[in-house]
Amino acid sequence: MKRRKFIQNASLSSLALVSSSSLIACENKNTDSNDAIVGDLPVPTLPLVVATWNVPNATAAAWKALEEGKSALDAVEAGCRVEEADVKNQSVGKGGLPDRDGNVTLDACIMNKDGDYGAVVYLKDIVHPISVARKVMEKTPHVLMAGEGARQFAISEGHPMENLLTKSSKKAWEEWQKTSEYKPVINIENHDTIGMLAIDKNGDLAGACTTSGLAYKMAGRVGDSPIIGSGLFVDNEIGAATATGLGEEVLKTVGSFLIVELMRQGKSPQAACEEAIRRIVTKNKNHKDFQVGYIAVNKKGEVGAYSIHEWFSFMRYQDSKNENIKSEFFLKTQ
Ligand code: ASP
Repeated sequence: MKRRKFIQNASLSSLALVSSSSLIACENKNTDSNDAIVGDLPVPTLPLVVATWNVPNATAAAWKALEEGKSALDAVEAGCRVEEADVKNQSVGKGGLPDRDGNVTLDACIMNKDGDYGAVVYLKDIVHPISVARKVMEKTPHVLMAGEGARQFAISEGHPMENLLTKSSKKAWEEWQKTSEYKPVINIENHDTIGMLAIDKNGDLAGACTTSGLAYKMAGRVGDSPIIGSGLFVDNEIGAATATGLGEEVLKTVGSFLIVELMRQGKSPQAACEEAIRRIVTKNKNHKDFQVGYIAVNKKGEVGAYSIHEWFSFMRYQDSKNENIKSEFFLKTQ
């Protein structure tokens, strides 16, 4: 395939805006527009997996699949399943924090290298929404299934039903009920929605996103995570992006699609993530009250990340190294 020229005219801002020195190296290696930099830095290597937040076990599972020669699609599903099954992660799958009525409802989506997409929203009682989303994509004529229909489909595909509300999430919900104050939570501990992007040994991309949504949301609320172009977008010719944080803001700006389109126009993944955050903060003067974070990869394996607030981090598994990297953030520049 013809190699695309990614213009990195923002190399200075990339240098200034990425905190980890290893990420700085990654952002600027193989820069087509600057031979001096290209000569000095190693070429990004594949395969590659990145994920929102500090989820080393999830990226390790995805990396293992990639190392075994499996597809990027298999890898992101395997990675997301790790967090969905982890009851300590209160933002994803079993153990997720419930809505204000005490129901744990899950949203997830997945995209493959051919631009196919599958998603579930408002799914109850099923631990692995990401695998149900994949089955929606592969086994139905539809792309998005909701609520009871999605649950019945999952059961018919052999997914067992389980109570997803763990003791500790129930306790947290009961505590919240004392005030019932509804404010979006900026960062829940150090993890949240899992958005994962991978490039396999063939150079093909896939992405997945899985969440229990905002804690104590209104019953029926659906966020960005399962919505194509908002919580996730993959274009195998260009790159992929995924989001975490206040879904309403990501939905209004169609953030992940925007990032991929900006990369198509020549922006680096870093510059594209920064622009998508800028769209949100310029439209919403209350942006200090909520968090949004994006990660992106381009076809070459270059990585970008940016958030509104501090403390957003992401995993990058590349060159056999599984690293958690702190993202740069908009409010630092204010
Ligand atoms: N983006 C998710 C949602 O709005 C929540 C999160 O990432 O914390 O449902």
